[in-house]
Amino acid sequence: MLKSFLVPAIALSALCTLPAPVQADELRDAIAADMPQLMDLYRDLHQYPELSFEEVETAAKLAGRMRALGFEVTEGVGQTGIVAVMRNGDGPTIMLRTDMDGLPVTEQTGLPFASTQMAVPASGVKTGVMHACGHDTHMTAWIAAAQMLAERKDQWSGTLVMIGQPAEELGLGALAMLEDGLYTRFPKPDVTLAFHDAAQFPAGMIGYSPGFALANVDSVDITVKGIGGHGAYPHTTKDPIVLASAIVMKLQTLVSRESSPLDPAVVTVGSFHSGFKHNIISNEAKLQLTVRSYSDASRQLLLDGIERIARGEAIAAGMPDDQMPIVAREEHYTPATYNSPVLTEDVMAALRVRFGPDQVAQVPSVMGGEDFAQFLRASPDDTKSLIFWVGGVPQADFERANDGQITLPSLHSPFWAPDAEKVIATAAEALTSTALDLMAPASELKVGM
Ligand SMILES: [Zn+2]
Ligand SMILES: [Zn+2]
Repeated sequence: MLKSFLVPAIALSALCTLPAPVQADELRDAIAADMPQLMDLYRDLHQYPELSFEEVETAAKLAGRMRALGFEVTEGVGQTGIVAVMRNGDGPTIMLRTDMDGLPVTEQTGLPFASTQMAVPASGVKTGVMHACGHDTHMTAWIAAAQMLAERKDQWSGTLVMIGQPAEELGLGALAMLEDGLYTRFPKPDVTLAFHDAAQFPAGMIGYSPGFALANVDSVDITVKGIGGHGAYPHTTKDPIVLASAIVMKLQTLVSRESSPLDPAVVTVGSFHSGFKHNIISNEAKLQLTVRSYSDASRQLLLDGIERIARGEAIAAGMPDDQMPIVAREEHYTPATYNSPVLTEDVMAALRVRFGPDQVAQVPSVMGGEDFAQFLRASPDDTKSLIFWVGGVPQADFERANDGQITLPSLHSPFWAPDAEKVIATAAEALTSTALDLMAPASELKVGM
């Protein structure tokens, strides 16, 4: 059990009047000195994004840098993923993860290094490609942390596993790496760490949620059958649009009447398609749902409820037994992301000392999803896990938004242009200092390790 391994940091935090450790300045200065090269890397990654499972050039760029830093690098793990290992004596195994994929979004930031890349995603419609989720900031901070840790091997003892994960946006890349032997071919981590840039917090702010931080994400497809016919003779048909509408309305009661008000849940019908013409009653309607929850029990309640409601409404509409709706859910769902509470509080206490109490805040959990969750789920007894937010909103924009002058773009927006330098500097320092704390060679500090 990992606990109290950051005892000195907690003690500092409790006293709170002590100045930040000297090491903070040294590390911060070193990252600042490297920032021109890091920003070159960031701009290059930003300008040439690649879609999920197509991160070939991106992975090659990262792999080359990691080799140059002295890591043993394996490419092609989980299709386009990379694993970089640095062994440095006895001690814990710490895994730092970055994701690598861009999105099928046509960039409209107007930045001089804006992406003009084009690609054809699964939808088949050619589109621009953009790092609209900020994974370019993740990769740059990850490289910076690798460099800082490689240059400070005398300050830590243990094994560092740095992974570049593909296809986070599909929710499939983490699983692909695990299924390709991430925990058997490479050292299994005691702690996994990652961060994500955030479009709701000012640049450089660190936000965290102990326990459930992001939700279970299930995609459900419902094919509602009907009996088609002439629009002027509805009594000779079973109208699938009316039936599917009833299903949509009844689904609203799952969260409002069946789920506990204290257990967050979402059922959204994001797509409803049926019919081709004014005067024809269709044979079929298709619904696409996203279903969000935190606990396994809540997830099951929603998924069971969706099947029951679809069938129940079809029976009420008089559909025959062999024409019941088909409810299909995607085989690989994204499980809820859980931040190990003790690890989270320990790390954040240390980061509060380093960055100051105003820069580090506990924030509400969200119903978004993140497949970083898979790394803990694959090793629930041996591994602790933490992902935190680093705010990316330029300070001036944040203030104007607070005054109601502008609306901030969200992640995935074609206008998302974070203060990348602030995100990268903050995240690189947070990741490096946390890894150094977790792998501090002074063994008496690692009580319970
Ligand atoms: Zn995203
Ligand atoms: Zn993302």
